[in-house]
Amino acid sequence: MLLTYLYGLQDVFMFNKRIKIRELLNQPADGREVTVMGWVRTFRNNQFIALNDGSTNTNIQVVLELGKFDDVLLKRLTTSSSIKVVGHIIPSQGKGQQMEIKAAHVEILGDADAEKYPLQPKKHSLEFLREIAHLRFRTNTFGSVFRVRHALAFAIHRFFHEKGFVYMHTPVITASDAEGAGEMFRVSTLPLDNPPRKEDGTIDFSQDFFGKATNLTVSGQLEGELAATALGEIYTFGPTFRAENSNTTRHLAEFWMVEPEMAFYDLEDNMNLAEEFIRYIIRFVLENNREDLDFLAQRLDEEEKQLPMDKRSDMGLIQKLEFVVNNRFERITYTEAIDILLQSPAYKKKKFQYDVKWGIDMQSEHERYLVEKHFQKPVIVTNYPKDIKAFYMRQNDDGKTVAAMDILAPGIGEIVGGSQREERFDRLTGRMLEMNIPADELWWYLDTRRFGTVPHAGFGLGFERIVLFVTGMGNIRDVIAFPRTPKNAEF
Ligand code: ATP
Ligand code: MN
Repeated sequence: MLLTYLYGLQDVFMFNKRIKIRELLNQPADGREVTVMGWVRTFRNNQFIALNDGSTNTNIQVVLELGKFDDVLLKRLTTSSSIKVVGHIIPSQGKGQQMEIKAAHVEILGDADAEKYPLQPKKHSLEFLREIAHLRFRTNTFGSVFRVRHALAFAIHRFFHEKGFVYMHTPVITASDAEGAGEMFRVSTLPLDNPPRKEDGTIDFSQDFFGKATNLTVSGQLEGELAATALGEIYTFGPTFRAENSNTTRHLAEFWMVEPEMAFYDLEDNMNLAEEFIRYIIRFVLENNREDLDFLAQRLDEEEKQLPMDKRSDMGLIQKLEFVVNNRFERITYTEAIDILLQSPAYKKKKFQYDVKWGIDMQSEHERYLVEKHFQKPVIVTNYPKDIKAFYMRQNDDGKTVAAMDILAPGIGEIVGGSQREERFDRLTGRMLEMNIPADELWWYLDTRRFGTVPHAGFGLGFERIVLFVTGMGNIRDVIAFPRTPKNAEF
C-alpha cells in the first residue's frame, strides 16, 4: 500500500522518470511512451536528433514530425544541448537503427551555443581532446574508456572480495619513503618563502603541521603488510604519487595502484594470484563491456591503418584480450631474460639504445623486446639482482638475487611489480643497513618481523596501465580523467 502510494507520488512530482538509452535499446519497439534525457550529438534535416545519455555509445534517434515543433525550439537543438524528450518507441523507418522515438514533447534543459562549443561532430585528435578534458567525456572514445575503467575497478573489488581479501585504505600522507620508489611530493604548511630553519640552516620540519617532514604516498605496501600479517589477505586500491619527471606515455605523477598483500604466500603463490587476477578482470570486461570494447577495437584498427605495416599489431584488441585470458603467462628468471636479450638479433645488430648485461635495470625497450618480439605474450620475470630492487624483497640463497617478480605486458612493459617479502628480521635489518634505510624510522614495520613473522608476498598493479592495456589506448593521459603530469595540473 505504502509503496503504491509512494510510486503514485513519484509519478506526479518526480522530474526524472527517464529510461536510460542502453536499457531502452534492449526493449521491444512496441509504441510505449517513454522519457529520455541526454545531449544532442547531431540534429539533421530539422527532423532527426541523435541523442546520447552516456549509458552507451549508441545514440537513440528521436524523430520530430515536420511542422509540429516550434522553429525557435528547433534552432536550439544544437550539438551538446541537453534535452528531455517524451515520445513513443517505434520500429525505425530508416536504416542504421532498430528503433526510434517519435517525439511528442521536446524540452530544452540547457542550450549549447554552436558558435562557441569546441567539440564538433567530427573526428578530433586525442591531443586536442586532452586540452578540453572537461568535455572529452562527451565523445564516443572517452565514453567507452571511462565505462571500461569503471568496469575494471569494479571487477578488481569483486575479485578480491570473492577471495575473502579485506580492502584497506592506507594513508595518502606518509612520513616514510616506502622504498625510494620514486621522487616524492612534499606535504607542508610551512611558509614557502621563509620556512623556519635549524642552526645548520636546514628546514626545521619539527615546526611543520605533522611535526616532521611528510610526503604524498608512493605506495601503500608497507602499511598493507602490517594489515596482512594480521588479517591474512588484504588489498589497497588508491591514489599514489610520484614526482618523477618522466614524460612518457606510461607515467603519471598521480596514478591509482592496486596492492594486494598476502600472509602465507611465497613467490609462486604470488605469481599465481597475479595471473589469475589479471585474467579475471579482463574476462569481466570482455563479458560485460563488449560494446565498448568493440568500439575501442575499431578505433585502434583505424589508428593502426595509419602506421607502416611492420608497426601494426598482429592481433586486434579483442583477440589480444582473449589471448591473455586463455593462455598462461610465460615465466622466466631475470638471468634467463638477460640471456635472451644477449642472444637476440636486436642486441647483435646494436638496435638497443641501452646496454645489456647481468645487473642492469631492464629498460622499456628490453622489456618490450621480450614480450612483443620474443614471447609475444605477457611474461613474468623473477629473481632480479638485489641491487636494483627494494630492501624488503626476500633474499635468495645465491646471495645475488631477490624473490621479485615483474609482469610485463605487450605494448605497455611493466604492469605489475611484486615480490615475496623478507620476513627474517636479521636479513631484513642487514639489508636496510646496507642500503641506508633508517631502521629507527621504520620501527613499526620491523615489529611485524619481531612478533610472529610469517612468509608473505604481494604486488602492485598500476591501474592506469591495465586500463591502457584493455582499452588499447596509446597514452596513459587518455585513460585517467584529469591527468597530472610534469607541468600539467589543469582541471
Ligand atoms: P616503471 O619502471 O614503469 O617506472 P616502477 O618500477 O617504478 O615502474 P613500481 O614502483 O614497481 O613501478 O610500481 C608498481 C606499479 O605501478 C608498476 O608496475 C606500474 O604498473 C605502476 N606505476 C609505477 N609508476 C607509475 C607511474 N608514474 N604512472 C603510472 N603507473 C605507474
Ligand atoms: Mn618508475
